[in-house]
Amino acid sequence: MASIDHWIDGRVVPGQSGRTADVFNPATGTVTGKVALASTAEVARAVESARAAFPAWADLPPLRRARVMFRFLEQLNRHRDDLARAITAEHGKVFSDAQGEVTRGIEIVEFACGIPQLLKGDYTEQVSTGIDNWTMRQPLGVVAGVTPFNFPCMVPMWMYPVAIAAGNCFILKPSPLDPSASLMMARMLKEAGLPDGVFNVVQGDKEAVDALLEHPDVQAISFVGSTAIAQKIYETGARHGKRVQALGGAKNHMVVMPDADMEQAADALIGSAFGSAGERCMAISLGVLVGSAADKLLPVLAERTRALKIKNGTESDAEMGPIVSDVARQRIAGYIEQGAKEGAKLVVDGRAFQGAKAGAGCDNGFWMGGTLFDDVKPSMKIYQDEIFGPVLGCVRVKDLKEAVELINSHDYGNGVACFTRDGHVAREFSRRVQVGMVGINVPIPVPMAWHGFGGWKKSLFGDMHAYGEEGVRFYTKQKSVMQRWPESIGKGAEFVMPTSK
Ligand code: NAD
Repeated sequence: MASIDHWIDGRVVPGQSGRTADVFNPATGTVTGKVALASTAEVARAVESARAAFPAWADLPPLRRARVMFRFLEQLNRHRDDLARAITAEHGKVFSDAQGEVTRGIEIVEFACGIPQLLKGDYTEQVSTGIDNWTMRQPLGVVAGVTPFNFPCMVPMWMYPVAIAAGNCFILKPSPLDPSASLMMARMLKEAGLPDGVFNVVQGDKEAVDALLEHPDVQAISFVGSTAIAQKIYETGARHGKRVQALGGAKNHMVVMPDADMEQAADALIGSAFGSAGERCMAISLGVLVGSAADKLLPVLAERTRALKIKNGTESDAEMGPIVSDVARQRIAGYIEQGAKEGAKLVVDGRAFQGAKAGAGCDNGFWMGGTLFDDVKPSMKIYQDEIFGPVLGCVRVKDLKEAVELINSHDYGNGVACFTRDGHVAREFSRRVQVGMVGINVPIPVPMAWHGFGGWKKSLFGDMHAYGEEGVRFYTKQKSVMQRWPESIGKGAEFVMPTSK
């Protein structure tokens, strides 16, 4: 049984709190490891290590920090499949999907390799006679990231490559459900030549997060997880004087217009609803079927939902793996029951799926089939709440206007998609919809590394998106310097507000 510990000051540090949590292989339901849960004192030790490493790291020229990132990139490319295997083993998602997750994370490291360019400031010569003004961006100090179970590699990589390249020291608090990838990345950073203390990992739960939120030496917190916790992190972090970006939950709609290519739309709905068992913040959980699209699509969706290849994620032809935990599986099953009670039409019920069908040794895993609802109404809990599982609800609407009003009335605003062949519809949709990330004939519009990721409304608390240039701004503070080198000093004091002369 693996013991999954902390990473502090460039080495593995066994947990000392006496508290641990079981780590499961969700496909088999077996316990494969014990993860340490940090105490406040252990968090303080990691912060101290980061604080001590900060001055030298921040002082290093950005190009030399970028070179560490380039070497880290080499490590990541070499160990891409090892990371993906670790993700499949603890999260359950299928191996090819885990590879995709690692690749999307690597792209942020590629972006962070450009940090010398990204940190370039502005300069204005002669703002007043003999005076120049310029801005520079300097790192904050010790910053922390708290991450969810659903992307144990990619979501931490939304944060620490940019933070570190910008000159900060970083403390990662991963999800205790799939903690192994965090230590693999820590080892690779060390191999890449990152100085000890610049990147630390504290495994843990609420206690570790609270310790980070309250620690006076932590300057900023990046959080990704569910909305209730995101809001709490935002409020508590702000109360303790920290910068906070807290990305929350989601309920993503996909509109299908009657003129859309129905084959493409069906592929998109099935892949984005059931890929990673629906445990993606950009999963499509609601199909909004406009006019005649509903009757064309629903029979195809039903057939495709029943035919999903639900298998151990290690199988090369698996399309969907298990649910991450038994607790999550029960929560999802509860929503299916509630949806049926509330009057939605349960077209395909995934609750009956048996683990034995998923492959040898899977009888006791956390399995569930795909579920499809028709006639979902906005008043229903299955419409309002994030279920975070393989459940696709379909809402029928009469036109684009009704579709956009529906989406704009929802509490969440992470991702959205519209499938159409009409450019005007696509343009109007993109402009009117109150959602942070929009896909036109693209079901999961996760922005590339240099564009930044973030939703609106209850999907993001804070004003900076993750990664991209906003990520650089989040992890740096601007300093403005105004400079004069007078031929001689001593013209006397000036008592009026300086203006351009
Ligand atoms: P979660 O909110 O349960 O946990 C996220 C992190 O917070 C974990 O590290 C966890 O240990 C910690 N945590 C849990 N309870 C806490 C508490 N009471 N106080 C302090 N910290 C606490 O989320 P999860 O189940 O791991 O991940 C799924 C959620 O994450 C979904 O809601 C999903 O939409 C969201 N998510 C959002 C995005 C996004 O970009 N908006 C991306 C990925 C996941």
